[in-house]
Amino acid sequence: SVAVGVDDLTAWLRRFAEVVHERRDELTALDAAIGDADHGSNMDRGMAAVVAVLDDAPPTDAAGLLKKTGATLVSKVGGASGPLYGTLFLRMAGAAGDGDLDDAAVARALRAGLEGVLARGKAEAGDKTMVDALGPACDALDAGVGAGKPLADALAAAAEAAAQGRDATVPLVARKGRASYLGERSAGHMDPGATSVTMLVEAAAATMGR
Ligand code: ADP
Ligand code: MG
Ligand code: MG
Repeated sequence: SVAVGVDDLTAWLRRFAEVVHERRDELTALDAAIGDADHGSNMDRGMAAVVAVLDDAPPTDAAGLLKKTGATLVSKVGGASGPLYGTLFLRMAGAAGDGDLDDAAVARALRAGLEGVLARGKAEAGDKTMVDALGPACDALDAGVGAGKPLADALAAAAEAAAQGRDATVPLVARKGRASYLGERSAGHMDPGATSVTMLVEAAAATMGR
């Protein structure tokens, strides 16, 4: 088991910020179809602010870094995704404990993040939200770590599960968030938040546990 420390988490966050920036227009186009066309700009603004923290005043421990990330997203991103992504990272921070994270602690932290999103947003599986990608990712990560897979492999499986969950949001009718205002007309479009959270898990697989 390779310990995940502040350097790994920093690499993860920087990678996620890069991908969100590169694919900002794609996220916004998805949100234009079933929301208010701001998910790309919301996430890009929030993660740019996180990168500014990493550049200027980076916390020196894993939990502190996760906490600062959550607080930054809450303060810089409005709407639904700011509080939800903020809660995800704040709950990860709360679960992280002192020092570096072993494989099981990484899985526990992401699960705690999911539970925070569920508590805050009240979405259930199948409501066409970020939960539909993050939930399967947590399940796959737990299964992989529980089976003794190297963290990199368990995260790769989690990223694959997130992508499948994201793709499975296409036919769903939204029951939470702005997209739910469209009712049946929300079907036939991929959920923006499920797409960005898949990028988050893919970024973890690309940077952590190796
Ligand atoms: P807003 O809808 O306020 O403009 P964004 O466009 O940034 O915020 O984010 C929209 C995404 O937020 C959706 O695609 C969905 O994945 C996620 N979302 C919205 N409401 C909820 C909720 N109650 N629970 C979980 N995720 C949600
Ligand atoms: Mg929006
Ligand atoms: Mg909005």
